[in-house]
Amino acid sequence: MYISQLFIPITKNLPSEAKIKSHQLMLRAGMIKQSAAGIYSWLPLGFKVMKKIEQIVREEQNNIGAQEMLMPTIQSADIWKESGRYEDYGQEMLRIKDRQGREMLYGPTNEELITEIFRSSVKSYKSLPQLLYHIQWKFRDEIRPRFGVMRCREFFMKDAYSFDQDEQSAKKSYNKMFFSYLKTFKRMGLNAIPMAADTGPIGGDLSHEFIIIAETGESKIFLDKRIFEINLEKYNFSEESLERMRNEFSSYYAVTDEKFNQKEFNQKVEKKNQFTTNGIEVGHIFYFGDKYSKPLNCSFDNQDGKKSTVKMGSYGIGVSRLVGALIEAFYIDGRMKWPRSVSPFDVVIIPSINKNNKENLEKSKRIYDELKKQNIDVLLDDTDENLSSKFMKHDLIGIPFQIIVGSKSAEEKFEFKEVNMKSEIIDLKRIKQKLQK
Ligand code: ATP
Ligand code: MG
Repeated sequence: MYISQLFIPITKNLPSEAKIKSHQLMLRAGMIKQSAAGIYSWLPLGFKVMKKIEQIVREEQNNIGAQEMLMPTIQSADIWKESGRYEDYGQEMLRIKDRQGREMLYGPTNEELITEIFRSSVKSYKSLPQLLYHIQWKFRDEIRPRFGVMRCREFFMKDAYSFDQDEQSAKKSYNKMFFSYLKTFKRMGLNAIPMAADTGPIGGDLSHEFIIIAETGESKIFLDKRIFEINLEKYNFSEESLERMRNEFSSYYAVTDEKFNQKEFNQKVEKKNQFTTNGIEVGHIFYFGDKYSKPLNCSFDNQDGKKSTVKMGSYGIGVSRLVGALIEAFYIDGRMKWPRSVSPFDVVIIPSINKNNKENLEKSKRIYDELKKQNIDVLLDDTDENLSSKFMKHDLIGIPFQIIVGSKSAEEKFEFKEVNMKSEIIDLKRIKQKLQK
């Protein structure tokens, strides 16, 4: 793509409510545009990053045998009345009436709808377990939408649901998802820490929030910092390995403020290992047994020929929130550097161009064509802005690799730079190798 053809409305003017780095950068780099409080349009650059995140999430869900489907955004109020949540959900739920006067709503989550789908089709233990997910827009009328895409009203979420015949089997599904989440976030360069969360009336230790460290995060977190040293490489998806992995994580104290207890913290964690900071919740997994399957009457015939209620869990990842969370994690000193796996482009070519000298632009176009042939997603900054304003712009866009075609480039060698690293003068063959990695 040539940047002159790309719709990236870079702007200098920021609204006063844009208080955190990610919100500011996303507006300045033209990634999003607000349409109403907590509701955004995703412009090409932001959309591209979100799609890459979505794809990683999808691949990792598929890897554990979860099946993708798609449920609608608009739901009937009836199933929510059956589960008892229609009243409980309160004002966060956007309620709508259709032209027949039927009560509808814009889904804030999908436990009811998926349970309703399941109960009408699954009759026997032979069809269990099942793991289903979708990636869809949600609406929650948050009381205070803020921080751009971090807490908005309309947001993009992956939500998965597990169906098992008993608690033991449900725990396997939970552990599988737990490990899969760690791998998913790792692929985006994020070290997400699973933290024990409240399970409500169900009890047990089967709810975790996945949190990444960030000063601007809304969650206060308390942990034993040795949890950072856990090596995921030594684990795999076998039942026994998953159990050991969960035990290792559970052996370290790691909770958010809702579960925090100072006395317990001091008892369980030596002073030198205590770590208190802020974090962003990027995922949440939950085992809730028959909380929804019971009121919604979702049962199956078990091995003894008796009726049994299906045991369920739900597993969310904030796909759109992750775009902001990644910026909070990787935007340092006014400069963004996307992890390669989610970067909007693999590399940007930045030629030094002036009115009398179009040679660098011609050279850049040749490099562009060469890289394109190798399926490298390349952006060419073909504008005639001076180099320093180009660099400022690319500090916002955050592509991790730059090829600078200017005074330092010789005949067939070019200045190649990984953002925040020293540049080197190398030929195209070497550049291709570096980008292929
Ligand atoms: P929070 O405590 O941040 O409100 P939640 O417990 O309500 O989150 P879940 O219902 O578990 O969140 O949703 C799953 C994921 O969706 C969260 O981990 C988060 O990443 C994301 N998410 C939740 N609410 C929002 C929102 N208002 N805007 C953007 N993403 C959100
Ligand atoms: Mg919430």
